[in-house]
Amino acid sequence: MLNAVKNVDGLIGPALKGMDVTKQTDIDDAMIALDGTPNKAKLGANAILGVSLAISKAGAAAKGVPLYQHYADIAGNKDLVLPVPSFNVINGGSHAGNALAFQEFMIVPVGAKSFSDALKIANEVFHNLKKNLKSKNLSTSVGDEGGFAPKLNGTEDALNIIIDSVNDAGYKVNDDIMIALDCAASEFYSNGVYDYSIFEGKNARKLNSDEQVEYLISLCEKFPIISIEDGMDEDDWDGWKKLTEKIGNKVQLVGDDLFVTNIKRLQRGITEKTGNSILIKLNQIGTLTETIQSIKLATKNNFSTVISHRSGETEDSTIADLSVAFNTGQIKTGSMSRSDRMAKYNQLLRIEEELGENAKYLGVNAFKF
Ligand code: PGA
Ligand code: ZN
Repeated sequence: MLNAVKNVDGLIGPALKGMDVTKQTDIDDAMIALDGTPNKAKLGANAILGVSLAISKAGAAAKGVPLYQHYADIAGNKDLVLPVPSFNVINGGSHAGNALAFQEFMIVPVGAKSFSDALKIANEVFHNLKKNLKSKNLSTSVGDEGGFAPKLNGTEDALNIIIDSVNDAGYKVNDDIMIALDCAASEFYSNGVYDYSIFEGKNARKLNSDEQVEYLISLCEKFPIISIEDGMDEDDWDGWKKLTEKIGNKVQLVGDDLFVTNIKRLQRGITEKTGNSILIKLNQIGTLTETIQSIKLATKNNFSTVISHRSGETEDSTIADLSVAFNTGQIKTGSMSRSDRMAKYNQLLRIEEELGENAKYLGVNAFKF
């Protein structure tokens, strides 16, 4: 961190002095040139992104417009759309200390009428889930992304208790709420094997790539799953291709570790037909301009885009404005707890209020497959 600060003060600051803060592409290009490496190894993505976003905020202030409007102008986008949120209600994998291999179990209020309605629905389900966990004497402490991290008995157990909680809150699965998973499969892929025992104990399943594809398909047949992120390992391109061939026309298949917000990896995915959606993390790629390039490439090729937080977060809510400005239609920013997650939802509520009747919410139409 101190290195990043040193690079901002000593190298980036002097190089950008005197430039126009509203010219975001010029600023980002200047930093990329100053760094001179393909992966921002010299200055560091955190130093570059911090400056890129700080200047974007100065740019909005200089123009006297809200941040989301400035971002929409930069991206050349006229449509402002509130995102459909995927709320991570149960944390597993590396984000929790429990016995679940999959990293995120999310609820998606596809039937909500508006963003604020989606938030209300998610909150009611979240609190019913808390009640249901308590009644089974399971822990209600939360993991990295604000979802509960109980010691459940594997994937299906987690999915069943979520579905019970949706029903208890008075909503219908499929119509009102569907489920999204982030398997983060690279975290339990080892020597060609999807090894669930790494997280779930020695009797858990060990699958080859074809069996992993079949297992994910069987979950989609049993449960109302609308989206699977990183169902396959980040280098198992063949497995990704098979999964996409089999269910890519009815389930959103999101590449996070697969694409790392990088247009070269995304282009390979588009050409080889691996996945149909990309997770967008700003600090994976490092500047606002490159983030916009990834979103544009995805959109042009009919891939959906999901703006995402990181598992380690701050109270900064820039991604809320980005998700509206770039018309991505989806956001993934944790659960209904922890102020680092709530900050993003609160900002989206403010934007919804400000846009008034112009605040669009796409619901199930935000998913392209
Ligand atoms: P990360 O996880 O920020 O730890 O990469 C978030 C995610 O996998 O979506
Ligand atoms: Zn992920």
